[in-house]
Amino acid sequence: MAFSAIMAGATSDAAAQNDNFEYNNERFADLQMLRYQVKGFDQLSLKQKTFIYYLTEAAMYGRDILYDQNGRYNLRIRRILEDIYTSYDNPLGNCLNQNPDVAIKEMNDYDAFVTYLKRVWFSNGIHHHYGSEKFVPGFSRDWFMREAGRVMLEDDALKPYQQQLGEIADVMFNPDIMQKRVNLADGEDLVLTSAGNYYQGVTQAEAEAFYEQQRDANDPHPVMYGMNSRLVKKDGKVQELVWTTGGLYGQALTRIVDCLKKARPFAEDKDQQAVIDKLVEFYTTGDLRTFDDYTILWAANTAPQVDFVNGFTESYGDPLGMKASWESIVNFKDLGATKRTETLSANAQWFEDHSPVDSRFKKEKVKGISAKVITAAILGGDLYPSTAIGINLPNSDWVRKEHGSKSVTIGNLTEAYNLAAKGNGFRDEFIDDPEVIKLVDKYADVTDDLHTDLHECLGHGSGKLLDGVSPDSLKAYGSALEEGRADLFGLYYVADPKMVELGLTPDMEAYKAQYYTYMMNGLMTQLVRIQLGNDIEEAHMRNRAFVARWCYEKGKAEKVVELVKKNGKTYVRINDYEKLRGLFGQLLAEVQRIKSTGDYAAAQALIEGYGVKIDPELHKEVLERYEKLNLAPYKGFINPVYTAVKDAAGNITDVKVTYSEGYADQMLRYSKQYATLPLVNE
Ligand code: ZN
Repeated sequence: MAFSAIMAGATSDAAAQNDNFEYNNERFADLQMLRYQVKGFDQLSLKQKTFIYYLTEAAMYGRDILYDQNGRYNLRIRRILEDIYTSYDNPLGNCLNQNPDVAIKEMNDYDAFVTYLKRVWFSNGIHHHYGSEKFVPGFSRDWFMREAGRVMLEDDALKPYQQQLGEIADVMFNPDIMQKRVNLADGEDLVLTSAGNYYQGVTQAEAEAFYEQQRDANDPHPVMYGMNSRLVKKDGKVQELVWTTGGLYGQALTRIVDCLKKARPFAEDKDQQAVIDKLVEFYTTGDLRTFDDYTILWAANTAPQVDFVNGFTESYGDPLGMKASWESIVNFKDLGATKRTETLSANAQWFEDHSPVDSRFKKEKVKGISAKVITAAILGGDLYPSTAIGINLPNSDWVRKEHGSKSVTIGNLTEAYNLAAKGNGFRDEFIDDPEVIKLVDKYADVTDDLHTDLHECLGHGSGKLLDGVSPDSLKAYGSALEEGRADLFGLYYVADPKMVELGLTPDMEAYKAQYYTYMMNGLMTQLVRIQLGNDIEEAHMRNRAFVARWCYEKGKAEKVVELVKKNGKTYVRINDYEKLRGLFGQLLAEVQRIKSTGDYAAAQALIEGYGVKIDPELHKEVLERYEKLNLAPYKGFINPVYTAVKDAAGNITDVKVTYSEGYADQMLRYSKQYATLPLVNE
């Protein structure tokens, strides 16, 4: 599971940096590109650098998998768009005799096309990376047909699909086709109405029945059914196309396996080599028991400084929460910052024992929570360019319970968000109380990081399911509820005197900065990411909404939290921080009960009741205020470039990292250098 950044900008005034690194890069549509710095890379040993180098290559080769997972037309569309981009030659030329209307239209079409292509790159497909709705092209269909027709004649890879150009254009331009990548609208067939490529020709009922019959309620160690396959109906029979080196996506997985094998000799210890061997075995066989074995080895391998995630990981893209998108991150431990999370881990049992949760749902023994702050070296697949700032894996409930999990917060990405957002005006627009501004200025950096650590290191790993409860029983509500559970655990404890005792916060005022920014985000400011009229869909956003709104509603009679109006603007007012903590604790206990007992009806009521619908008046106001700030609501990162210096024999003698590659250049290079899959994968 990944933990995404809350509105950067609300809370940040990070300490001034001593270097002149340019964090902000280009901006388009609702997106701001940033760069991140890989501090400490030069201090690593040559062996570590070489290990990282091959792992970064493995991280790149899965890129096409994600495009295809996100939609079956994506690879064809990307190819057509890139061909147009690299060969476009204004047919009107520079001739001044042209009809100016025609010339302007051509220019506008082209500009809108470039924006569209950059959005497709950003989202790894034609649907918004966060809201999952299909982009509306700002250029005309006629313009596209002319340009696409031209490039399809010239590109051998596209020639076989010339007859499909009309169909492809429909997919891009017709708003009624493939509307949403992930549809979570209650009451609809979520499988049929989602455009993601995890199911083909099967209904939600068929998909659920297919996996239900595989499930053995008595198996204490169930595999994560369906996570590495597409479910299709072929010859009237529902069946899986499994993603393996010899199966679907085989070309990409073979390249990944090659890179992993090259990396293996440079692994930091024997156990890490065993991790790589198991992962290779899983990619080769597709066996889900092997996958569990791999994750157990991976979770236990905490000694090395360099580590990586490479595989089918995030289930947010599947409306049923089973199929996993491919992603990769390569990283190394930030030894200094890791001290903070080690303190939390060392006290994990204390936190479990003292939580407000019913003792039946607590773990008697919280095991193996390893927590560290890492420096990201490369982001790939579903972590690129929009990324998480924390990761907690593996996902399997029983593996977590019996073998523990690894939790990381990604220090250099959080820092990049914070520094890029400095002084952007966001805070002054949405916080009117000078006392609160002071509070946020003084503490938010500390408490924000701490909340992330609590969420990742303790929250996800806490609690247990009652015997016989299926981990999938909350179905479409499982992800949002789980994120809410981890958030609530963090919110409850960030205000605990234990934090001061452990030296993690300076005093008992600090947590208020986190409470304020969390409530403001959940009640109001996260709405800037949603178009007027739409519901909240994404799991983390639903989580923040249901947590904030539930507490707001439950505390209404006592005015614990208020929404006050001043000069036509709404502000969050927290009147009683201690009572708010009590509400967080109450909700944590209830959310844990829902999860532990698999109470689907309660999950549905909580999330549909508090986490989905938006007050249209407030939404409109927030969007208007935000618009005036002229900020991009979403951010993503351009990767650094790693260059291996080799001697005559081909041995790597050094690895250089540079930060100058532009976004479009990076995308075109990736498409060329790491193209692995055919344009159609059936
Ligand atoms: Zn999480």
